[in-house]
Amino acid sequence: MALAGMQAELTNWTKSTRSSCYVYRAKDINDITHAQEYAREQRLSVIPHGAGHSYTDAALNTGGVVIDLTPMHRILSWDPVQGIMRVEPGVTMQELIMASWKDGWWPPVTPSTPDVTLGGCAAMNINGRNAWKCGPFGAYVLALDVLLPSGEMLTLSPERDDQLFHAFIGGLGLLGMITSLTLQLQRISSGCVTAHRRSAPSLGELLAMFAEEAPGSDYLEAWIDGFATGRQLGRGHITSAKLGVAAGDGCPPSPLPKLAIPTRVEMPIVSLFAGVTRPALLPMVHVVNRLNYGWHNRRQTPVGAARLLYPYTFWPPAAFTWYQATFPEGVETFQAFVPGPDAKELFEQVLSYSQQQGHIPLWCVIKQHRGDPFLLSYQVDGFSLELNYQRTHQNAQGLSHMLQRMVAMVIESGGRFYLAKDRFQTGEQYRQSVGGDAVDAFLRLKQRYDPELLLQSDLYRRLFEPYLR
Ligand SMILES: Cc1cc2nc3c(=O)[nH]c(=O)nc-3n(C[C@H](O)[C@H](O)[C@H](O)COP(=O)(O)OP(=O)(O)OC[C@H]3O[C@@H](n4cnc5c(N)ncnc54)[C@H](O)[C@@H]3O)c2cc1C
Repeated sequence: MALAGMQAELTNWTKSTRSSCYVYRAKDINDITHAQEYAREQRLSVIPHGAGHSYTDAALNTGGVVIDLTPMHRILSWDPVQGIMRVEPGVTMQELIMASWKDGWWPPVTPSTPDVTLGGCAAMNINGRNAWKCGPFGAYVLALDVLLPSGEMLTLSPERDDQLFHAFIGGLGLLGMITSLTLQLQRISSGCVTAHRRSAPSLGELLAMFAEEAPGSDYLEAWIDGFATGRQLGRGHITSAKLGVAAGDGCPPSPLPKLAIPTRVEMPIVSLFAGVTRPALLPMVHVVNRLNYGWHNRRQTPVGAARLLYPYTFWPPAAFTWYQATFPEGVETFQAFVPGPDAKELFEQVLSYSQQQGHIPLWCVIKQHRGDPFLLSYQVDGFSLELNYQRTHQNAQGLSHMLQRMVAMVIESGGRFYLAKDRFQTGEQYRQSVGGDAVDAFLRLKQRYDPELLLQSDLYRRLFEPYLR
């Protein structure tokens, strides 16, 4: 049995939360069952853990057991004709891509890092730059095998177990362990996207561009300059991309980049650069944002340029090295999902409030979304605004206080938060945002399938426990 059962200090991905847990590495279903039995004997709770890339307390279980499912990473079957893959939950997005791109298939929904596990993607129901068009990750899950806390195994699909399937996807590991997923991949005709960028001098104009660009795009995402104020508040640019290239444009069949500089050379240089620039980070980002906006404003690219799909989709490894070296005390993220008609006013309100409080977001992203049928859905017909702040020993308290206030502003106006990226909501706010009926329905399923409350996380105790009747 590969159960180490080591007491370990875990953090969330942004390093803003720490947690002391007993970590077990499970390489098969037997290992999970043994870990659950051990936890029961010791009267400890249990939570599954993928790659630990959530920014929150979702995969942390202070004082309890965390079952690391990354060793369960076998591809169980692959049908290159239909694009259907069955995988264990610890298979990463990277492993899925490596197994499928040569046959002309690509994951339909991706985050900005390929290192996440597919079990973690289903349990969070992640969204991509095509969320307004393709919906969330769960829309491409054809079936799930799950292990319930009772030890019973079930196979769930949207056709057979509609309610439980739609609760397990986005269910945060609180109903059971996903032990395998059957996924429908998306056909790609080449290894490229054709991308173009348009600048907008204000938030209103930027949001309007989403409607203009959506019909001809497969992916849309906007960057905004968090330093811009007054009439330029929310200025930025939108990047629109379409899968494939225009006829005649050469594009390699592989979506993967050729490694120009070996990683072992690049990483020390990036770390050194991050260390030198850290003390002047804020003024430096201010200048870079001005240049970035000015450059793209002058050099609009209405005609698309071919870009390789993989580096278009994912941040490069050097970006993560820079991130780790630049933010030793972590990052705080705020990502609000707001209905379309309210987005401009509310986004302007939170951006201005943040600037007035003296906290400037270092990078800011806007995406478009649509509602979906999953029980704990966080997506709405509208937009999300993501703001990322440097966290330091000096600003941590003031920053948390401000973000709590911003969360309240959004929820009072009918917005929602994504539980992979929000650690500030209270249980009461969560109920208000996703609806008391949805939370009650989820808790009824929890009482039915996990009556002894074996599956718990820090997030569970923060958001759900107060409402369990
Ligand atoms: C750089 C970066 C960029 C990101 N970009 C995006 C983005 O663009 N869009 C987006 O939506 N998200 C994004 N994320 C968030 C990330 O996609 C999610 O947090 C995802 O859940 C991480 O997967 P993981 O394997 O790390 O899961 P973990 O963080 O380890 O776990 C997430 C949740 O899933 C549960 N879980 C894990 N495995 C299982 C299982 N087998 N069965 C049941 N429950 C399980 C855990 O208990 C936990 O509740 C990003 C994260 C990073 C670090």
